[in-house]
Amino acid sequence: MSHGMLDIAFFQGEYVPFSEANISIGTHCVQYGTGAFAGIRGYLDRSGESVNIFRLPDHARRLMNSARLLRAELPYTPDDVVTIISGLAERNNHVGDVYIRPFVYKPAVQLTPRLRGIGDELAVYMLPLGDYLKLDRGQTAIISSWFRIPDNAIPSRGKLSGAYVNSAMAKDEAEEKGADEAIMLNTDGKIAEGSACNLFIVRDGVLITPPFSSDILEGITRRSVLKMAEDAGIPTEIREVDRTELYLADEAFFCGTGVQIAWIGTVDGRPIGRGTVGPITKQIQEIFFAAVRGESDQYAEWLTRIPLKVPAGA
Ligand code: PMP
Repeated sequence: MSHGMLDIAFFQGEYVPFSEANISIGTHCVQYGTGAFAGIRGYLDRSGESVNIFRLPDHARRLMNSARLLRAELPYTPDDVVTIISGLAERNNHVGDVYIRPFVYKPAVQLTPRLRGIGDELAVYMLPLGDYLKLDRGQTAIISSWFRIPDNAIPSRGKLSGAYVNSAMAKDEAEEKGADEAIMLNTDGKIAEGSACNLFIVRDGVLITPPFSSDILEGITRRSVLKMAEDAGIPTEIREVDRTELYLADEAFFCGTGVQIAWIGTVDGRPIGRGTVGPITKQIQEIFFAAVRGESDQYAEWLTRIPLKVPAGA
């Protein structure tokens, strides 16, 4: 995927043209992956009058937690990050769905792979982004031969730049085998997650997802799905999931900022359930999309609304 960026970025404490937000090839983060990032979606409100940023304070908090794992020292609180990102979305004033990418990185030109005492920066850019998966068709998935990184090797609960080599290995393998997405097991052989998404299964009407201790990212969409399910009276369980349980699931879906709620049609060539979107997946999808488009009072607090400036005479 390559995208045209929106004009304005946040860089070194200021809003600047995206083309001027550049770093050195010697940057510590570029060499060693010592960065942390977030991926956040903004949805055009059904009224067309605002862009609704989904769970911005939660993303800001997870970003700063990921940064803490890297011992980042920054002058910003999560609230400051919310203000910076809201300001950026206002300035870009894009009338459409957007993807926002804030990241914390070690900008030093420094040869030692260490975390402490070498300084950190925050930058943010954004781009237009609609659905990048066809949500009406089932995803084909394989169990990857690549294990999900154990938390004791690279913290898996944080969104750390260097760790995404793990995701890329698994994604390439899936695509080269003709599948859409990889499902990674952890080093204990339990289901962890997709290359850039968490995973749910449904068995006998219960919505099940692996725990953080299965080496998964602390996903914000995952947390939202659990809440929506509880509110809708769907029983949920957070527990370890075996590979063969996935084969026997009635329904399965990926969730994440990028994939949103994407149902899984097959795993390792085996159809999941009837091979069509299941009723619980469909219900969660409907609640989710109503929430992000601003149609649901129940989840209004999940949205940071950025009013759009409409040109005079429009
Ligand atoms: N796991 C990984 C490895 C991811 O990169 C993502 C995307 N951020 C997710 C899960 C889903 O997390 P979220 O719902 O917070 O986007």
